[in-house]
Amino acid sequence: MEKEQKKNKKPAFVAVKGIYEIMPAEFPWWDRFLEVAEGVSKFYNFERIETGIVENADLFLRSAGGEGTDVHKEMFFIKSNKDKWVLRPEATASVARAYIEYGFSRLQQPVKLFYFGPMFRHENPQAGRYREFRQFGVEIIGGENDPVFDAQAISLASRILKEIGFKDVVVEVNSIGCRVCQPAIKKKIQKYYRTNIKKVCRDCQTRIDVNPFRVFDCKREECQEVKKAAPVFLDLVCSNCQKHLKDVLEYLEELSISYELNNNLVRGLDYYDRTVFEIFVEAGSKGEKKEENASKLAVGGGGRYDYLIEMIGGRPTAGVGFSFGVERIIEIMKKKEIKIPAQKNKYKSVFFVHVGEVAKKRSLKLVEELRKNGVGVIEGLSKDSFAKQLKMADKGGAEVAVILGQREVFEESVIIKNLKTGIQETVPVEKMAEEVKRHIK
Ligand code: AMP
Repeated sequence: MEKEQKKNKKPAFVAVKGIYEIMPAEFPWWDRFLEVAEGVSKFYNFERIETGIVENADLFLRSAGGEGTDVHKEMFFIKSNKDKWVLRPEATASVARAYIEYGFSRLQQPVKLFYFGPMFRHENPQAGRYREFRQFGVEIIGGENDPVFDAQAISLASRILKEIGFKDVVVEVNSIGCRVCQPAIKKKIQKYYRTNIKKVCRDCQTRIDVNPFRVFDCKREECQEVKKAAPVFLDLVCSNCQKHLKDVLEYLEELSISYELNNNLVRGLDYYDRTVFEIFVEAGSKGEKKEENASKLAVGGGGRYDYLIEMIGGRPTAGVGFSFGVERIIEIMKKKEIKIPAQKNKYKSVFFVHVGEVAKKRSLKLVEELRKNGVGVIEGLSKDSFAKQLKMADKGGAEVAVILGQREVFEESVIIKNLKTGIQETVPVEKMAEEVKRHIK
């Protein structure tokens, strides 16, 4: 790799644009995130589910991505003679599909699930936005559409982030109404936008006809004024939706979760009703003062989707959930220098050094014996020089070296050397595992 860079020549093959790959040095962060996210979810009685990465396109076209949505525009279709398949752009519709397909309605309701895996969206790659990225998400499906579950989903998201070490977690919440009130809300928003149609961008001019709620997603400068003065969801949703939101907020207060009402919040996916939310963390780096970087970044989002299961062929079933964008969380963890507990890697504690051909052959068996005894071993079997092997041991952070030379083979012994103190002793082969264990405790 270094050679290629020196010549400033691009390798023949590089990762496809926008595909986020995780290199070994990054895994301690990913492991930490997953350890906390899975641990907290299981503690809250959620179970893991893993659905396929390839799905029928219609699953998403019917649910998350109707015309005018980002999902619709950004799906990766798989070329095939007769089937219309896609790489999944999100997993909620997949989990809902599995709920129907595997008869989860027969289990105790609601069913509480979590998932982790790659999602694919053909977006313009930029910082924090990739074409292959990973989401960790939870879904609460079935039972009543009780606001307590909305609060539970939000509280789980917040608890995971706090346990990882984020201090400023803010949840923005809105209600986008239900089947009863949404048609009238859409009309009101359309009417308002049509009277201001010349002041908004081309996209919003189309959105207002095709998918009116999407106008609130527009980030263009010229649309902000119209957006700010638009009719407010909270005033327009029906009394049942208002009560639902009020209950959600009261539960959040009870759980001491900080939230902000955001009247313009809608979500990029079509299947949401009532509660929608987005989760933000303060994303400035550790050294910066808060005011210098009033930058908060969305690391997750979710909401209620009481019509989703019906949209894809099941019986009416309530549901609520959220998903985190894990790359973003990892990037902010690194930037903020959030501590991850040091993991003593027991598998790197012993380095096995051999001297000479005979010893090399014999070491294969001895290394396996150490491993059978639960001792992790790094070996430099492909390096024949003693000095090179010891250097490797040093770099690998080993505390103890086990050395096998011609003489030791002959005498059926090994040398155990403490690399910190430099003290070494010769022990009979049959005592090797026991003695090594004593050293690395
Ligand atoms: P969504 O599924 O669109 O509600 O997104 C949920 C979270 O996933 C967002 O808050 C982001 O953190 C993350 N996310 C969405 N799209 C991308 C992307 N293209 N690249 C990386 N992360 C993303």
